[in-house]
This record gives sequence, structure tokens and C-alpha cells, in this order.
Amino acid sequence: MKDIATPNRTKLILEKYGFSFKKSLGQNFLIDTNVLNRIVDCADLDNTSGAIEVGPGIGALTEQLAKRANKVVAFEIDQRLLPILEETLAPYPHAKVIHSDILKANVKQVMKEEFGEGQDVMIVANLPYYITTPILFKLLEENLPIRGIVAMMQKEVADRIAAGPGTKEYGSLSIAIQYYTEAETVLTVPRTVFVPQPNVDSAVIRLTKRSKPLVDVTDEAFFFSVIRASFAQRRKTLMNNLANNLSGIPKDKVWLEQTLLRIDIDPKRRGETLTIEEFARLSNALLQGKT
Ligand code: SAM
Repeated sequence: MKDIATPNRTKLILEKYGFSFKKSLGQNFLIDTNVLNRIVDCADLDNTSGAIEVGPGIGALTEQLAKRANKVVAFEIDQRLLPILEETLAPYPHAKVIHSDILKANVKQVMKEEFGEGQDVMIVANLPYYITTPILFKLLEENLPIRGIVAMMQKEVADRIAAGPGTKEYGSLSIAIQYYTEAETVLTVPRTVFVPQPNVDSAVIRLTKRSKPLVDVTDEAFFFSVIRASFAQRRKTLMNNLANNLSGIPKDKVWLEQTLLRIDIDPKRRGETLTIEEFARLSNALLQGKT
């Protein structure tokens, strides 16, 4: 049997089921086995590994994962795809589809039920682009027992993830991802390998989970509030952004200025110039004045 991800076989499958793409669900299916294989290569799976997929579509990536991994569990929101997946994945009984919105799924519980204790597990996905960031945050914040994530996303988001201080792409997303993982762009992908073709370019990012977050922060939620406030208006100074956008700290600008100077951060700097270590220092210092 031919791979699912060839233009012809994909067309036949879609026609057989009269499937129409839903733009609102970010449905752009891969029709290039080469690209799929390169994505799976980046996940470094072997026959003892487990894989979790978000949004299997008609099973193009699921199939390639199933050829390498010991077990694949895929979360799909669109009920219309379930009978299709049942047919396309029939040769791979160790690939299981769960009908669920990934943002609502209890992934930790599913992992407990589906994978062995201590099993190597990677999340591999061609993400629905309209919810790339919420999916990544959900998967990282839940502290799942995974080795990492290999994910296709719009290139613009991949650039923001991989950006460093002082660049225009650098922002709260770059810092949050860096906090939990080591990120690298492993592939850029032309729009021609999808059906229908998206109107943005794509890239594949590999996120390798750190054994512990990159910096020590006393209060994680407050750390992320400090970061968001610091980037609220990019052209404003750190001092102004914190004074205007961070709740729970004294409204006294002198206190704020002294706190920044005490930890060796010039209040006139812009948020986009601070490293993650500086944000950690800042958030721990501001916490002392938190009301
Ligand atoms: N993996 C397939 C491929 O590479 O050809 C399809 C990828 S397509 C970009 C995204 C898939 O995610 C679609 O199948 C879509 O129905 C599914 N999807 C969209 N929102 C979802 C959600 N909240 N939870 C789970 N799956 C979702």
C-alpha cells in the first residue's frame, strides 16, 4: 500500500469520503513523504519510543510515526476524520486516535494509561496554526513526562520562539519557551507540500525539555506577568511598562527605580533587551514589594 502522504492517495482518500477542509480548524494536510520523514527524523524515535500527535488529519504523519515508534497516540478534534483514520491507520494497530480537543484533553492521564512508566515519549505534530501558542503552552506548563516536542508551525511563530534579546522577534513567547526547553529550528518548509496550501511559510522547531527550568524564580506566575508587562508597549522603557502594566507592585516610581538599580538593571532599558536571567532577577526583586 502506498503512503498516505502522496498527492494521489490523499486525493483519493478525500474524494472517497467527500471530505471538505475546515479552515477554522487549521486543516492543511502534508502530501510529501520526504518532509514527513525529516520531521520524524528530528524526533529521534526508536522502536521503544512512544509518540503523541496533535491533529492527525487523515494520518499522514501518524503513519510515519507508527513505522518507527512503539506506540502512537493522536488527538483529533474533527469527528469527520475518525472513519477516515480508522481506514488509513488499519495497518498500524499500535496507533490510537482519541477524539478530543487537545486544549481540553487530560494528556497526563492519557500518557499514564497509554505509555509505560519511564518510556521515552516525544510529541510530534503538524500543528493547527490558529492555536499554535496555546497548544505549546498547555503541553509545556503541564510538565508532562516527555523528552520534547517536534512541531511544524508558521515560520513567523518559529522565529519568535528562537529569537534572542535585542531582536524585534524577541518577546514573551521566546522567553517562556526558553524557560522550559532548549529550542532549535530544524527545518523550513515551503507551502507547496500542503493541501490546501497555507498562505504563510512554515518551519519545524524541536523543543528539548530541560530537566529543570533555566532560571530559578520564586513565583512562576508572577515571573510571567513581569515579562508580559515589560513587553506591553515595546517602545516604552522597562520602568514605564512596569509602572503602567504590572499590578500588585507599589505605584511609587522611586521604589521601582531603586529596585531596578539595586539589581543592576538600568530603568531606561527596554524590556526587549533583558535576558531571561535578568527577568528572573527582576521578578524575584519585585516580588518583595508585591502587595
Ligand atoms: N497531521 C496532519 C498532516 O500533517 O497532514 C494534519 C495537520 S493539520 C495542520 C491540523 C490538524 O489538527 C487537523 O486535522 C485538525 O482537524 C486538527 N485540529 C485542529 N484543532 C484541533 C484541536 N483543538 N485539538 C485536536 N486537533 C485539532
